[in-house]
Amino acid sequence: MYDAIVVGARCAGSPTAMLLARRGYRMLLVDRDTFPSDILSTHYIHQPGVAKLQEWGVLEGVLATNAPPIKTLHIESGGIRLKGMPIYQGIDFALCPRRTALDTVLVDAAVAAGAELRDGFVVEDVVWDQDTVVGIRGHGKGRASVEERARVVIGADGMHSVIAPKVQPQEYNTRPPLGCGYYAYFSGVPMDGAEVHFLEENVNFGFPTNDGQTCVAVEWPNSQFAAIRQDYEGAFVRALQGTPDFAARVAQGRRETRFTGVGNIPNFFRTPYGSGWALVGDAGYHKDPVTGLGITDAFLDAELLAGALHDGWSGHRPLSEALAGYERRRNERAFPLYELTIQGASFQPPPAEQLMLLRALQGNQEDTDRYLGLISGITPVQEFMAPENLGRIITRAGRQGASG
Ligand SMILES: Cc1cc2nc3c(=O)[nH]c(=O)nc-3n(C[C@H](O)[C@H](O)[C@H](O)COP(=O)(O)OP(=O)(O)OC[C@H]3O[C@@H](n4cnc5c(N)ncnc54)[C@H](O)[C@@H]3O)c2cc1C
Repeated sequence: MYDAIVVGARCAGSPTAMLLARRGYRMLLVDRDTFPSDILSTHYIHQPGVAKLQEWGVLEGVLATNAPPIKTLHIESGGIRLKGMPIYQGIDFALCPRRTALDTVLVDAAVAAGAELRDGFVVEDVVWDQDTVVGIRGHGKGRASVEERARVVIGADGMHSVIAPKVQPQEYNTRPPLGCGYYAYFSGVPMDGAEVHFLEENVNFGFPTNDGQTCVAVEWPNSQFAAIRQDYEGAFVRALQGTPDFAARVAQGRRETRFTGVGNIPNFFRTPYGSGWALVGDAGYHKDPVTGLGITDAFLDAELLAGALHDGWSGHRPLSEALAGYERRRNERAFPLYELTIQGASFQPPPAEQLMLLRALQGNQEDTDRYLGLISGITPVQEFMAPENLGRIITRAGRQGASG
């Protein structure tokens, strides 16, 4: 009998298992994949996510995989370009480690903390005792099904979670799929940090990653997915032409991988706990990848869930109260960022007020960094978007314009 069985051993599952194992709990961590292995995802980690890696003592391990610290983020919207890198808890860089590298470091950290890893193990179902989940049923490759039992089964099994439909959590704040995308890795692309270009028809991304390669990605409206699939390479090249300087730099490089694509990406929140079960990471809260928040959110939610389970099990608070706190704190942080994400993936031209703000930010590095901190979850959205704050930024720009 385990304290917890975690299904899924990547950004949400491994940290959850690691944090609980470090507190002395008996953890079983299972994944149908083996490691190292890749998964469908680009992999930009915002500064709060990097700060978590540091706090957990695994940042050195990630940097040792040769993922370069990203010191500048370039954002283009409405034809206006801004750049900066807000600092969070002393972390002045973002990271974009290949998932083959990142997830292996995380799995190893969970195992080093004492979690038992069973990779190559497919979970088929949860085991019930009346209305409480008491375990899982699954099998290793070519092996017979076995049952394992625990006080709680944690679904950290991604956007197509197998655990979620079994436990039927309430879904809320759902939105239709907005974006679809393709990406590939290139060598020899001159880059000065990461770049995200919001254009009218598509969003172009460039992320420096391991071994001098660049992850180049394009996102389009989901309504175009069927058409783009017919000729994704042509669509990719045409989309990059919207940013001629970036397209020229990509053209200098060499594509090292095939293209990977995805459409019909869901947007939802789920109640992340119930009797004998919990959900964390994409299984509990999923959104369009345009803001690159999934990994950072998975880290933060893993910590909230591990803390809540510890609070409940150690008698610090009733477990149900602790888990309700997990959902509340997750949502308080995530709701405003979810709205930014939905906006970012809606392919609408920026409204006039936003254009005015972007223009006013040019030449004002302090507020540009705070603006860029919105998308990273560093700057509180309500605070930055407060009319007094926006008024202050626009007035300052007007004064500088008048004196310049
Ligand atoms: C195209 C795209 C681009 C993205 N770009 C970014 C980005 O730049 N930055 C960012 O932060 N996020 C990005 N994301 C989101 C990010 O990939 C996810 O938020 C993140 O992977 C969530 O981690 P997770 O651990 O919850 O789930 P996952 O990483 O999906 O891991 C789930 C694990 O569960 C395992 N599993 C599933 N079912 C079973 C089963 N039945 N039995 C056993 N194991 C099972 C899987 O094998 C998998 O290893 C992107 C996503 C997409 C689709």
